Amino acid sequence: MFVVVKSFNIFSASHSLFLFFKIKKNVLRKICLFVFLFVLFLNWGYSQIIKKTLELTVCESSNDSLDLANIHQYFVDSLGYYFFSSLTDSLMQESDEIEFVGFELYDEWDSLQIHYPRFDFKTKMDTSYLPLVCTTAPYFHPVQGVITSSFGWRRSRFHYGIDLNLNTGDTVYNAFRGVVRVTKRSKSYGNVVVVRHDNGLETLYAHLHRIHVSSGDTINEGQSIGLGGNTGRSRGSHLHFEIRYLGAAICPLNIIDFKEYKLVSDTLAISKNTFDYLNKISSVQADSKNAKWIVVRRGDTLSHLASRHRTSVRNIQQINRLKGTMIREGQRLRVH
Ligand SMILES: [Zn+2]
Repeated sequence: MFVVVKSFNIFSASHSLFLFFKIKKNVLRKICLFVFLFVLFLNWGYSQIIKKTLELTVCESSNDSLDLANIHQYFVDSLGYYFFSSLTDSLMQESDEIEFVGFELYDEWDSLQIHYPRFDFKTKMDTSYLPLVCTTAPYFHPVQGVITSSFGWRRSRFHYGIDLNLNTGDTVYNAFRGVVRVTKRSKSYGNVVVVRHDNGLETLYAHLHRIHVSSGDTINEGQSIGLGGNTGRSRGSHLHFEIRYLGAAICPLNIIDFKEYKLVSDTLAISKNTFDYLNKISSVQADSKNAKWIVVRRGDTLSHLASRHRTSVRNIQQINRLKGTMIREGQRLRVH
């Protein structure tokens, strides 16, 4: 049916225009002009019907790009008009953006602060599934170096990222398509870049020797962020790499296979359990606020200290990780 309409339209439009300029009689010229306008109207009507059909299909199968590709091909094959082809192309682009709603999650764009205010994930009751990549925006591994320090506790401090070994001057690559939010020199991070990605994540690249991007730059996966280095609070050249979602760090090992240099999965499940470690940090911080420290004097024993500070020997041993009862003069101990 579409082929018939297409042939009819092309034939009618070209011939009515041709006749309009050839025929001298006024009445016939008017008829030709009418036919030409009628064909234009017919084209417009069909375009509206197709636009509606495609919009419905995009909504119903937003996750199925294969269906869209078939629909696109069907209309292009059937009608062959540039107009329809550009319309469906733009809708197909929209279908990618339907999956990637990253920028809509954030209500502000701050190019100065490294960390976006953290969302309270304790209030999150459901599980969200975040698509990380699509065919036009895959993943690219930032640095192919071994892990020298992982996500988690490092003595009394929490390490919110992962450290990857590199040599100063090695190129550091952007992981996902996005826009550079922050580039600055920080006391702890050194030269640091934060990128907000289409998929909703933010990645952070620290201790860089040189920065190759500026805030506001749109960058693709695999594009150079800068050169790896040893700036800021760092002992030896390495990349400190963080992945954050709405201000909260996620263990990169949950997302990336650092041996195979690829994603663990194309989708990331996010629930309040993803951020359980934050509760642990809060309780440790609250605990350390109430902490009481003393310095051991000559002649002090653990039982003396326990009775003086109304606690038990066992408690002092536990919070100070003491294996026996030996303590020495001048030693700093926590008694509460
Ligand atoms: Zn680190």
